Amino acid sequence: MRTRIVMTVALAAVSVCLSAQTTSISARKLIVMAADALGGEDRILAVKSIAIDGYGQLAYQNGGGNITASPDAPQKWTNINGLRRVIDVEHGRMRLQQRQFQDFVFAYERNMTGRGPAAIQMLDGDVAFNVGVDGRATRASDAVARQRRIEWLNHPVTIVRAALDPAAKLTNLRTEGKTASVDIVTPKGDHVTLGIDAASHLPAWIRWVGPDGNLGDVTFRTSFVGYQDANGVRVPSGFNTVMDFRNVVYQKLYVDKTVVDGPIDNLAAPADVRAASVPPARPPAVEVIPVAKGIWYLKAAGNSTLYEFADHLTLFEPYGSEASTKAVIEKARTLVPAKPLTEVIVSHHHFDHSGGLRAAVSEGLTVITQRGNADLFKEMASRPATLFPDALGRNPKPIKIRPMDDMLVLKDAAMEVRIYRTIANSHMANGIFAYAPGARAVSEGDLVDEGWEISFWGNSYSDSVKYWKLQVDKDLPVHGNIHTYAEVMGLIRKQVAGAQALCKRVEDAGLSMQGCPVANAEF
Ligand SMILES: [Zn+2]
Repeated sequence: MRTRIVMTVALAAVSVCLSAQTTSISARKLIVMAADALGGEDRILAVKSIAIDGYGQLAYQNGGGNITASPDAPQKWTNINGLRRVIDVEHGRMRLQQRQFQDFVFAYERNMTGRGPAAIQMLDGDVAFNVGVDGRATRASDAVARQRRIEWLNHPVTIVRAALDPAAKLTNLRTEGKTASVDIVTPKGDHVTLGIDAASHLPAWIRWVGPDGNLGDVTFRTSFVGYQDANGVRVPSGFNTVMDFRNVVYQKLYVDKTVVDGPIDNLAAPADVRAASVPPARPPAVEVIPVAKGIWYLKAAGNSTLYEFADHLTLFEPYGSEASTKAVIEKARTLVPAKPLTEVIVSHHHFDHSGGLRAAVSEGLTVITQRGNADLFKEMASRPATLFPDALGRNPKPIKIRPMDDMLVLKDAAMEVRIYRTIANSHMANGIFAYAPGARAVSEGDLVDEGWEISFWGNSYSDSVKYWKLQVDKDLPVHGNIHTYAEVMGLIRKQVAGAQALCKRVEDAGLSMQGCPVANAEF
């Protein structure tokens, strides 16, 4: 009965507010109600620390790493184990530790041989820093600091405390479904929206916008579910974060245990880290390797290939990021200043290989790709980046796509490049690669990588070469370095054998692993 009365008051506050053009006073009342639901305003303001142990899953490449670009493609996950998030509420500090384990076949070897725990992520006020496995602390960028301040707010107690701060700006009180929501600008200037359940008055979710290299501005929404008591404070048992890109579940976290006001370590930034300047964003250096007349291999975050036609230039792969792709485009223009760069070939949709897609579109390049990737690329290029403007956000342009099916020949008096569909590949169903018959050189993404210890789709390279009846001398891979075709076949033979040996080890131990037995291992 008491709940019902309080709820009526809350809804009355919302409706009064909506009719009276939203005043910050009624929004503040709503926040106080949320504090009361969490354990009382005084208790919430007295909280000194929160330590969360848990585990969960993270969407691999934000949902852009699946077998195809279709929104219906099954999601790939990165498992989060041994998560420990400590919030020093009193001093405005945080530490996040977790082990990430990519839960799909080609990552298994490196997962099992272990590359040590990921760097420990720290925040002290406005100073973000990382502590490596060697214990060394290094200052992180302002963008990382902002992301961690949002992560700091991503808990009912911290967001309600931030909203209770008299220096916080509360606006736009409204109803959204079964919640009353309010926009909050924290004293540090970060913008979030908090949704409060109309029935329980507990914080239901927090929503914010962040930058994304592939997608422009992305709205994230973390729901807080399964409230339980911890030392007189209501805390959630689960956090579920969804993106406004295809409703991809960005992260799921399951809480083992939350300790409120237990003893915690000193999380202060070391004096030298605090004094260090924020690392500046440097454009990556681009190394140029001439391959043949009119063909250059450009090494940056990944490797691209530049082809010189009679009256224009064509690039293979906008890899990694806006910064890397812009540096590669710049380099291409200095190599052949007389001819415009007009096209970019994208091998497959995975978000590392399309990391510079938006930058390429902003430069007016026509995107050549397999038809199965076209809708996703249109979606990526049409998303706004207004709060966190990237190259395309500053210079919006519609994407120009030249979709292909199985084969496309680009040919004039100066150059011939044939683009073929990749055959029998379990990593990407709609992959393409480029072949320059003059140089007998293949440019490809993810057919081979000298850095892989195992390969589950090794046959795809030789199957594709046989299917399209190609004479290959050189491989110009996006990952690694130039190899002869014989060297490539040697690498793949070793990697397929590595996958078979790993599967045998797993089976001998009475365990099972995704991708075993190695179906694609006839070599
Ligand atoms: Zn890939």
